[in-house]
Amino acid sequence: MPASMKAKAARGRGVWSMRAGTTRRGGRQAACRAGAARPSVGRMIRAALLVLSCLAAVPAAVPVAAAAQVQMAAVNPKSARMVEATVRAAGRLFPNLPAVRLTSAIGRVCGGPPASELVRYCTSANLVYLAADIDQRLSEPAAAYLVAHQLGHAAQLRAGIAARADTPELRAALELQADCLAGVILSSTETTASDPAVRAATDHLTAPHWGAEPIENGRPEPLPPTIRGEWLQWGYREADAGRCEVGDLPAAFDR
Ligand SMILES: [Zn+2]
Repeated sequence: MPASMKAKAARGRGVWSMRAGTTRRGGRQAACRAGAARPSVGRMIRAALLVLSCLAAVPAAVPVAAAAQVQMAAVNPKSARMVEATVRAAGRLFPNLPAVRLTSAIGRVCGGPPASELVRYCTSANLVYLAADIDQRLSEPAAAYLVAHQLGHAAQLRAGIAARADTPELRAALELQADCLAGVILSSTETTASDPAVRAATDHLTAPHWGAEPIENGRPEPLPPTIRGEWLQWGYREADAGRCEVGDLPAAFDR
């Protein structure tokens, strides 16, 4: 059966199948081979359907920006060091990512509260803001994951994928794809996606954390941490953004 038909059939059962393909780490794989299937998204869809309202705004396109970098490192060099490798890795994988800026006023950037008090990707400013005292609040792996997830959103935006997410289901898929991309980014750093601190950090993404100012409009769809973790692991294992197709969301990212 052609891969596309197989995927369609699998979708009908509420489980998305992976295509046969070549991966950087795993070599040629048969579709749906035990232990190698994409994470189930059936549960994700059911979770998305529980959403009472959809407040997420699709951010506008952002002009070409400088390569990913950490700004204001002097504010807290230790915090900057915690995420520098992740930012560099993301910059090698995706073009024109926003800079990551440390700020001691995270609660006031991009429209103020309510939104994440740890990290905010403000598309209006074309910046990822990170709490300058992140070193006091999270472990290094957790901070690296949060930044990788946000840069994943930036890659989605650059690729025009974010603009397609106009239903609760697709917006939930957008979150899972950002986790998959975070896994891809982390795969080329010293941070392992299976680190318990990384898994626990998914809880910090239930508040609005990215979008156009005011960022509070971008409340993400609620998703079980276990499913987020599965997509994070998938991306980490595949180490290829092209393997981050989630449902109807494509994984066509510029290199
Ligand atoms: Zn997100």
